[in-house]
Amino acid sequence: MRQEIDTLMEYIQKCKSMVVITGAGISTKAGIPDFRSQNGIYRQGGVNETLFHIEAFREDPATFYKTFAPLYTSILNAQPTYTHHFLKRLEELGRLKTIITQNIDGLHHKAGSKNVIEIHGHLRQWDCLECRASYDTSEEIEKHVQKGEIPRCVACGGVLKPHVVFFGEYVMGLEKAMQAVQTADLLVVLGSSLVVYPVAGLPGYREEESHFVIINREPTPLDEEAEIVIHEDMDEVLKHLGFL
Ligand code: NAD
Repeated sequence: MRQEIDTLMEYIQKCKSMVVITGAGISTKAGIPDFRSQNGIYRQGGVNETLFHIEAFREDPATFYKTFAPLYTSILNAQPTYTHHFLKRLEELGRLKTIITQNIDGLHHKAGSKNVIEIHGHLRQWDCLECRASYDTSEEIEKHVQKGEIPRCVACGGVLKPHVVFFGEYVMGLEKAMQAVQTADLLVVLGSSLVVYPVAGLPGYREEESHFVIINREPTPLDEEAEIVIHEDMDEVLKHLGFL
């Protein structure tokens, strides 16, 4: 791994426009399970992609909120990991331009990163399915969701939906994310199985001369395209670079 780390260090030192794509793997050390690895959410009984489908949510929000409660509580309690802080530092140093994240946990914000595209949305806002009113997260909403209850619109009593992208909905900020990747001279993917589209397709927009790096504990379908692939824990890998 030493050779790969030295090369990555060289890329980071030389780059002018680094872009990072993060997935659920960046937050596992913060106590938020990912979807697909051994301890992932899909390996726990009763949870699969259907639960996160917009039609399923519209038909049966009660089941969604009952199942979502433990994940929501772990997200509320989570603190940024070494890698979140590392990325914030690289942004401060002017090296990292954009973070494109698939995560809804808001941990890049909590770490203080500024230029973050949350392509699957976030949990800081809740939208009414009936009257389209939007609310910032309140103690009331937090309480209901942690208890597995449906949060309701104050104005009309309709079901509130978290401001996140469900399967079957359009992602947010895709155009901006594509532009960021196109202008990147270094693209690094951290903790994503790279099977959820359209994010899995973003690396395809990079320029030929840009460097492409993947750090993920398990193999991904794009490993063959990357110059550096490291199948290790990202915190342990990035600690070797010493920016923090
Ligand atoms: P995924 O579960 O499909 O893949 C996560 C990958 O991260 C796995 O391949 C795993 O091997 C790797 N990984 C886990 N911990 C790691 C670590 N410490 N170091 C290095 N690699 C590690 O996740 P995905 O590709 O992001 O796609 C899942 C979808 O689920 C996304 O759309 C995301 O919105 C959503 N999701 C978000 C959260 C969150 O907000 N934290 C959590 C679960 C799922």
